[in-house]
Amino acid sequence: MNPLIRLIPPFFVRFFARPYVAGDSLDLAMAAVNDLWKKRSLMATLDLLAEDIREQGQADENLRTYLRMVDAVADWKGAGPEGRPTLSLKPSSYTTKPLQEGGDAKGSFEAIEAIVEAAAKKGVQVTVDMESRHWTDFTIDALNKLWQKGHRHVGCVLQTRMHRTEADIAALPEGMRVRLVIGIYREPGEVALVDKPAMKKRMLDYAARLLKAGHYVEFATHDEAVVRQFVDQVVPACGVGPDRFEVQMLYGVPRERLLAELRQRGIRCRLYVPFANSWGLAVQYLRRRLDEYPAMMWLVTKNLLRIG
Ligand SMILES: Cc1cc2nc3c(=O)[nH]c(=O)nc-3n(C[C@H](O)[C@H](O)[C@H](O)COP(=O)(O)OP(=O)(O)OC[C@H]3O[C@@H](n4cnc5c(N)ncnc54)[C@H](O)[C@@H]3O)c2cc1C
Repeated sequence: MNPLIRLIPPFFVRFFARPYVAGDSLDLAMAAVNDLWKKRSLMATLDLLAEDIREQGQADENLRTYLRMVDAVADWKGAGPEGRPTLSLKPSSYTTKPLQEGGDAKGSFEAIEAIVEAAAKKGVQVTVDMESRHWTDFTIDALNKLWQKGHRHVGCVLQTRMHRTEADIAALPEGMRVRLVIGIYREPGEVALVDKPAMKKRMLDYAARLLKAGHYVEFATHDEAVVRQFVDQVVPACGVGPDRFEVQMLYGVPRERLLAELRQRGIRCRLYVPFANSWGLAVQYLRRRLDEYPAMMWLVTKNLLRIG
């Protein structure tokens, strides 16, 4: 991460990155989900921002919130089961022993399993986000275990920057839902690409491979040219219909025109909608967003001056 972004005090991070978060309660997040569906026919995947956990009480609170999210999503009457929001979660949200600090992720798998079991009873899909390289084995193993236990409503995220991803694709359980991203964590050259165009080329190659192998592909990028290559070239070349893929973007990234056009063409689109129980827990995510798009600070300032 850019050291200057790391130095911005939390108050200003929150101020500048406000558009990326639906709010500081589940009710506000569900209101955003409702708006997206009613006004723009966009689906959502709901995410609680809760990284960098230092106390067990916080990890327990995160689990309780996810169980409430399962109920909120299952009870939501905005769309039929097909348009229902999914949940996205990060394994690091449930442990005070994070792997990147040499910990053993104590409690993470148990919490994920509890959420996945609750979601199974209510027909809610769950995607386990992919964090930094320290978590890749853990996350893939967790998903494999859940799959072996019969949970077919779980999906994984694969980062095209990682060199291991090709092998991970080959080893995926048959038919597992996959979100394909370039990856947000800056990884060293020994394990990952450092060149964005190469990551994006891989994204198109891997999407084709996954579609041909029978996976449901969630193509997650804001790069308009890459989205167009996916829907206009890769999908037709693979001979699959609109029931086999969707395009995903992050809440707050301005892509209204492209999303409206995709919806008009009958392509499913879903936004990743994060919310926080407390703003302090959102800062890590927001810093990453500002790091990938520092211009947001200028946009927010410009809007403010226009209002003033
Ligand atoms: C739905 C979804 C889920 C994701 N889940 C994960 C995950 O589990 N693990 C993981 O490592 N990564 C995840 N990511 C992040 C992803 O890996 C990329 O870091 C991120 O999408 C930016 O890459 P890009 O493909 O959009 O390409 P970029 O080249 O970074 O961006 C393409 C264009 O979009 C603009 N843009 C990009 N980001 C922003 C922004 N924040 N605000 C405004 N404009 C922006 C850029 O300026 C550029 O013009 C997810 C992304 C999405 C959309």
